[in-house]
Amino acid sequence: MAVSTIREFSAGGVVLNLLKKNADIILINRRNSNIWCLPKGKIEEGEKKEQTALREVREETGVFAKIIKRIDKINYRFYKDRNVKCFKTVYFYMMKYKSGDINANSFEVDNVNWFNIDKALLKMNYKSEKEIVKKVKIMLNNN
Ligand code: ATP
Repeated sequence: MAVSTIREFSAGGVVLNLLKKNADIILINRRNSNIWCLPKGKIEEGEKKEQTALREVREETGVFAKIIKRIDKINYRFYKDRNVKCFKTVYFYMMKYKSGDINANSFEVDNVNWFNIDKALLKMNYKSEKEIVKKVKIMLNNN
C-alpha cells in the first residue's frame, strides 16, 4: 500500500526562571512514555507561532511566561499510522517565567519539574530538543 506524507507544525518553549547561565528550565514528562521533553503543541488555525508556544506552555506546565526571543526550529519524521508518515516542524522560543505554579494537570502530562539547565540536558530524550537547550545555554553565556 502507498505511504502518504502529511505535514505538522507545532510550537513550544524553553522556560527559564532567570536569564542567567546557571538558570533552571521546565521539562515535562509525557504520559505513557516516560520521556522528558520541552512543552509544545500544534499550531491551531489562525494562531501565531508565538501564541501557540505560550498557550502550550500554560496548558502543559501551568505557568505563564513571556517570550524573550526565537531559538530555532527542529524537524523530525514519524509514522502516524502504518501508511501515514508525518514530517513535523517545531518552533521553539526562549521564555522567562512570569507567574503560576508548575502542575501536571494536562491529561498528556504525568510530571512537570524545574531542572538546572545542565541536569535537564542529561534527562532529556530527544537529541533535537537537546540542541535547542544547548542554544539557550549559548545565548545565556553571551548575555
Ligand atoms: P504535539 O505535542 O505537537 O501536539 P504530539 O503529542 O501529537 O505532538 P509528538 O510529540 O510530535 O506528537 O510525537 C509524535 C512522535 O514523534 C512520537 O513517536 C514521539 O516519540 C516522536 N517525537 C517527538 N518529538 C521528537 C523529536 N524531537 N525527535 C524525534 N522524535 C520525536
